[in-house]
Amino acid sequence: MKYLFLLISSFTFAQQTQFVDFKSVLGKIAINATAKSISGDVNYDFEVLKPIDTIKIDAQNMEFSDLKLNGNPINYRNTNKELQIIFPFKKGNNQLTFHYQAKPKQTLYFVGSAAADDLQIWTQGQGKYSSHWFPSFDDVNEKVVFSLEIAFDKDYQVISNGILKAKSEINGILTWSYKMQKPMSSYLLMLAIGKFEKNVQKSKSGIPLEMYFEPKDTDKLEPTYRYSKRMFDFLEKEIGMKYPWKIYKQNPVRDFLYAGMENTSATLFSSRYVVDSIGFEDRNYINVNAHELAHQWFGDLVTAQSGKHHWLQEGFATYYALLAEREIFGEDYFYSKLYESAQQIKYASRTDTIPVLNEKASSLSFYQKGAWTLFALHEAIGDKAFKKAVRNYLKKNAFKTVTTQDFWDEINRVSDFDTNNFSKVWLESSVADSQEINKLLNKNKAMKLLFEVEQAKKKTLAEKEEFFVEILKSKAYSAIKEAVVGQLKNEKFEAKKQLLELALETKNIQVRQAVAASLSKIPEDFRLQYESLLDDRSYQTQEIALYNLWNNFPEFRIDYLDRSKDWIGFNDFNLKTLWLSLSISTPNYTVDKEKLIKELVQYSSPAFEAITRQNALEKLVSFKLIDDDVLKNLVNATTHHMWQFSKYGRDTIRTLLKNKEWRTSFERIMPDLNEKEQFQLNRLLN
Ligand SMILES: [Zn+2]
Repeated sequence: MKYLFLLISSFTFAQQTQFVDFKSVLGKIAINATAKSISGDVNYDFEVLKPIDTIKIDAQNMEFSDLKLNGNPINYRNTNKELQIIFPFKKGNNQLTFHYQAKPKQTLYFVGSAAADDLQIWTQGQGKYSSHWFPSFDDVNEKVVFSLEIAFDKDYQVISNGILKAKSEINGILTWSYKMQKPMSSYLLMLAIGKFEKNVQKSKSGIPLEMYFEPKDTDKLEPTYRYSKRMFDFLEKEIGMKYPWKIYKQNPVRDFLYAGMENTSATLFSSRYVVDSIGFEDRNYINVNAHELAHQWFGDLVTAQSGKHHWLQEGFATYYALLAEREIFGEDYFYSKLYESAQQIKYASRTDTIPVLNEKASSLSFYQKGAWTLFALHEAIGDKAFKKAVRNYLKKNAFKTVTTQDFWDEINRVSDFDTNNFSKVWLESSVADSQEINKLLNKNKAMKLLFEVEQAKKKTLAEKEEFFVEILKSKAYSAIKEAVVGQLKNEKFEAKKQLLELALETKNIQVRQAVAASLSKIPEDFRLQYESLLDDRSYQTQEIALYNLWNNFPEFRIDYLDRSKDWIGFNDFNLKTLWLSLSISTPNYTVDKEKLIKELVQYSSPAFEAITRQNALEKLVSFKLIDDDVLKNLVNATTHHMWQFSKYGRDTIRTLLKNKEWRTSFERIMPDLNEKEQFQLNRLLN
């Protein structure tokens, strides 16, 4: 999984796997989008390894009927957390069948609506537990061969793990039969439903690569999935083991909880990464794409036995994603990303006392320090030994769960490297080994120069100006030039003008964006140069530049607004919502203000994705364009399944409630709200 923001995951550990081995399951399920419910017939095959009198399947708030063990009715208990089958089980194979029904509070999400023709249904197992929508196992150590047959309205596409074996239609309902060949942990089970189309490519090794997209995004298909096949081929070669599943699907869904999730053979990712070729510059899917793909080996094929060993998933996925990016963007890019994460690791180690090898470690530790651990190891034992050990580790533990020791065992087999001491330094200590980190980074010339730039921080501008001029004029890597611009922020304009001009002349989008962001006050004699940023092929740069120019030069506002009136930006409408709020707030701009306000309020409504709604709400609130509809949309935000957005809603309402008039307004709209919204608003009012 890849987080958009830092979160803490929790894990459970149960012991049932010593007594029972669940082998495979066939789930025939149907989803009711109106009732937001799910029901199905489930058929589990399991082997009893040692006699046991109660067998448990995790099942949150489900109802059961028609339970049969080997065809005979059976006693069971429903604790609302578990389905417990009570029977004096003896060694041997069994079949359990039952019907279930549930209305999941989490894990199964409904976005949009059939009426608006934008309905999407998708699941998120990791961190949320698949047992909310399918009776399964919260314990990752119980790996099962899952096959789902999903029935839904024939106008929609249904996606699940594995190969699509058959599709059959009865009375407008299409049943999609998916089949897995190998076992996996339940948190990797998925389904996604929506109006999608797909583009299919084939990897060098012959694996079908299915790339899904919404019909409206046809022109974004190529930039969104750019380098997918190349990274797939690269990772198979780099890891040294064929992709372990029969097919690979990737599907963007709206209002997804994270950046991406590596469901076995069927990755879901956030629609914020669906970009055109301009959006690609600032917000591409490449890193998440490679990360979730790497998880298909590290996480899905071999799974960490418990939370303590979580770095075996996230550290590996982060490191191999970086290797895939190196293949595309080169050595300097690779090192600059390591440099960036090293800075974060060093900074965090001042206060974070929890090492990587701990279930309570931070995401930064599991992901970035985990990746750094592998990089340091790779450098220490050499490419040949590293690859051999990784390959053996995967082969030996395929379709099983692992601990960190399993990995060290393979390293010890191929080298006499002191893994004990290495583990103490990297995984069991919260201290960052800065000396070693810097030594490794200094192997790259660009990083050497970047360190020199960092050291120049203490110098006056006069002392370092010549050095900076030289860098900006050279072919130095863009991150170094960005660092140069970063050091100019608090300098007097006249003193830094020449350097800023040189930075703009690099024509590099990221360096120019650094200039855009570094100046909130723009002097008149830099106006023309700054205005050139409006034409950059970057929605982020354009957003910064438009806002700063509008702010600094009231006499040119109408020009700027005319120039940007057709801008839309990313699929969260960052430029559109900015333009609307600026136009509404420019008194002498002759446009139909009422119409524009209506349009901006519409972007804040549930008809749009959370990222768009928040963009619109932030502008409506900061420009004081608040009417009853805006208040209602704010309250609605507090009921959203994305915690970042619901938190934004709550925080904003709390601030507004400090004002008596807003409080009265919130009380006035109460009767117009639905039950869920009333509940949330009441909590904030009291
Ligand atoms: Zn991940």
